[in-house]
Amino acid sequence: VSAAYFLGRRGYKVALVESEQIGSAATGASSGTLFYGSGADFQRTVAQLGLAKAQLLYQATQRSIAELIRLIEREQIVCGLKVPGIITAARDEAEDEYVRGELRASGEVGLAGKLLNGSDMKAIFRGRIFTLGVEHYCAQVHPGQLIAGLSALMNSTLGVDVYEHSPMTRYDGVGQVMVNGERGKIKADRIVIATNIRPLEGLEARFFTEDSVVVPSRPLDGKLHEVFGADRIIQTTEEYYDMLYTQDDRVFLEVYRAKQAREKITAYFPPWVEFDLAGMWGDSWSKTRDLLPILGAVSPNVYAAVAMGDQGIVIGHTCGRLMPDLLEDKHELLLEMISPQRLRGRAA
Ligand SMILES: Cc1cc2nc3c(=O)[nH]c(=O)nc-3n(C[C@H](O)[C@H](O)[C@H](O)COP(=O)(O)OP(=O)(O)OC[C@H]3O[C@@H](n4cnc5c(N)ncnc54)[C@H](O)[C@@H]3O)c2cc1C
Repeated sequence: VSAAYFLGRRGYKVALVESEQIGSAATGASSGTLFYGSGADFQRTVAQLGLAKAQLLYQATQRSIAELIRLIEREQIVCGLKVPGIITAARDEAEDEYVRGELRASGEVGLAGKLLNGSDMKAIFRGRIFTLGVEHYCAQVHPGQLIAGLSALMNSTLGVDVYEHSPMTRYDGVGQVMVNGERGKIKADRIVIATNIRPLEGLEARFFTEDSVVVPSRPLDGKLHEVFGADRIIQTTEEYYDMLYTQDDRVFLEVYRAKQAREKITAYFPPWVEFDLAGMWGDSWSKTRDLLPILGAVSPNVYAAVAMGDQGIVIGHTCGRLMPDLLEDKHELLLEMISPQRLRGRAA
């Protein structure tokens, strides 16, 4: 959707084909946090990419968040936008050092955070004790509503044709690409394939799949403030982190392993908070080992935009913004960093 939006803005004639409903797959299932980077923590990103490339990634995602918020506000896209901030929180002294590392590394890439001590954390979260936290700017939306709103906007203002319930079954051709679907054919000069975890021109050997689930509580009957003293998103320190946040009169827990949900609810929340385990939802996203998405040509006139990773809403928007430049062969370091060429010969 982001690619179609930015291509439409650049003046391309665009048709979007979606096999189900816009925003019904991973994007709709997501927690909708709009945060910097590509899903790894600041320390790992700097260590893995080096400072200069990490800064470039963080600047690009910072710009995407600011642009998304401006767009939501200007176009009045109803998607529950709020800016609660996010806290990476330590559960014990062993994790305190990690939190201080996040503070240091985020400062190095120009996104300084604020250190919170144990009593600050207690004022914010009244369940499990967190010993230290580092807080950063972070927005949050209902992602399905955002993407549906963006799709409607590009259809009405940019003339992008949107075909839902229209799976692409095959594409072929050189020079012009014939996109074949169950409901018809579209002839195009180029196509962009953004199908998340689906196999794509062998790229599936270069990305892997991760998944997580979100468990909602039942409404708290006006007692939300007894759990969250202030509206913040809290995430833990491990690679497969847990995330705790609020929406309206409920709290939510996102975990990577559905089987651990019950045990983690008990570990984090006061016993009186009831969760709706049957109402839990989740989905999968594709991801690369080097933490960067895959955006680039995969065969003549065919482009991939996959492996959006844990922060796929913001990374997806960032890739969408780069799409017109990619199609026009412009040279940019960020485009080189995320090109499929970098993965040649590497396994997922
Ligand atoms: C539970 C959960 C929580 C998450 N939390 C966050 C978060 O807080 N913040 C964040 O930034 N990211 C989060 N993510 C990750 C993020 O949701 C994904 O990285 C991102 O949504 C991937 O976007 P995408 O467009 O690549 O994939 P998708 O949203 O899956 O979109 C791909 C689309 O392609 C369509 N499609 C597939 N095959 C075809 C075909 N043959 N023809 C036509 N259409 C086809 C699918 O129907 C789908 O709509 C979360 C993910 C999950 C599951």
